[in-house]
Amino acid sequence: MSAVPASLRRLVTERAGGRCEYCLMPQAASAFEHEPDHVIPVQHGGKTEANNLALACLRCNRRKGPNIGSLDPETGALVSFFNPRKQKWQEHFHLEGAMIQPLTPEGRVTTKILQLNDVQRVVERERLIVLELYP
Ligand SMILES: [Zn+2]
Repeated sequence: MSAVPASLRRLVTERAGGRCEYCLMPQAASAFEHEPDHVIPVQHGGKTEANNLALACLRCNRRKGPNIGSLDPETGALVSFFNPRKQKWQEHFHLEGAMIQPLTPEGRVTTKILQLNDVQRVVERERLIVLELYP
């Protein structure tokens, strides 16, 4: 991952309200620092600028890696990930308790590759919901 200047990092964090723009995990409830994610990774020509950056928790960022999409598990079609700069979270995902339910092909490939509903993450979100720290 290429370096993101401190001023840009601040902008990305504030714009996202301190929440991961993929799984909505708040920075305050996270053991690791959220990171600016290149929505389109640098190796695919994505630039280090505000409209190509999204705040991501460590887990989402690591799992997304240099990928830009995947095969939709329902149709097999090649689909881009949810793009937090161009799309609205609520139109692509729905929270059912601690589970993130995808509503669209973009939602499905993002949920699959970023493993948004792996057991550990769902348990953690359940705990935060009780504490009123999530979403
Ligand atoms: Zn996340």
